[in-house]
Amino acid sequence: MTLPYAEVIGDPISHSKSPLIHKFWLDRLGISGDYRRAHVKAEDLAAYIESRRGDADWRGCNVTIPHKIAVMDHVADPGGVRASIGAMNTIARAEDGTLFGTNTDAGGFFAPIAGLDLEGRPVAVVGAGGAARAVLFALSKAKIGPVTVLNRSPLKAMGLLAAFGLKGSAKPLDAPLPEAALLVNASALGMTGQPPLDLDLSPLPDDAVVYDIVYSPLETALLKAAAAQGLETVDGLEMLIGQAAIAFSLFFGAAPPEGCEDELKALLTQ
Ligand code: NAP
Repeated sequence: MTLPYAEVIGDPISHSKSPLIHKFWLDRLGISGDYRRAHVKAEDLAAYIESRRGDADWRGCNVTIPHKIAVMDHVADPGGVRASIGAMNTIARAEDGTLFGTNTDAGGFFAPIAGLDLEGRPVAVVGAGGAARAVLFALSKAKIGPVTVLNRSPLKAMGLLAAFGLKGSAKPLDAPLPEAALLVNASALGMTGQPPLDLDLSPLPDDAVVYDIVYSPLETALLKAAAAQGLETVDGLEMLIGQAAIAFSLFFGAAPPEGCEDELKALLTQ
């Protein structure tokens, strides 16, 4: 008997937490299926996609560094992801067997803050890389006020504001924060092995939310400083689990089980 399965592909891939998340949900739902890591080098991407295209048990894959852009040349793009976010992190199979790509990072990022009232309120985002693109795309769909993007290279930040039709400004990393209702760190700063993100949070109002998408470490210095100031915080595992949840439904046709988020988070931080 064959089993439906999905994979996560990248180079390197051994660090990926995706198998843990998807296998936890498969087990909880009692779905007979599997989720594997596949070490795919850049030069082997086309052959990998071709080999899986004909394998009906293969339901799709998550895509990580360095394939998020190159994979767009191999699959259909019904949602116009190439022209919007410009990178795919998930490949799935349509009912007619066609492989299509999408990006679940934007939805995964927005899920934990969907209940916030951000209408017309200023937002600050640190970073202008791949993750920041997904974050700014998601924010461009909400009715937020002006967006300040702080980045080592402000020119890159300016390009992203224009690409997503957002009003606001691009600033260097040492610029003071605006009175933002939401501050998002979408840069690599604060991640294990990277320099810290050192911001003065005092301009933020008391009801501001500070969201760090970095998940290693889980409690970054930014989140610690925000909590010490009495601000609400959202950690990077929320987005990681959120993007995986959308992909899981595409692969296995079922939503992840409810009520076991804390158990999953504990498993991911062991
Ligand atoms: P990326 O495309 O390489 O972008 C990195 C960003 O960090 C850029 O804005 C870059 O500035 C900035 N940066 C890197 N090193 C810096 C330094 N030494 N000084 C100042 N700025 C620096 O990476 P990414 O894919 O966007 O990922 C960014 C972070 O998000 C990573 O920590 C990643 O793990 C995390 N992430 C989390 C999730 C989740 O589900 N929680 C999903 C995706 C990514 P320049 O533009 O000036 O180069």
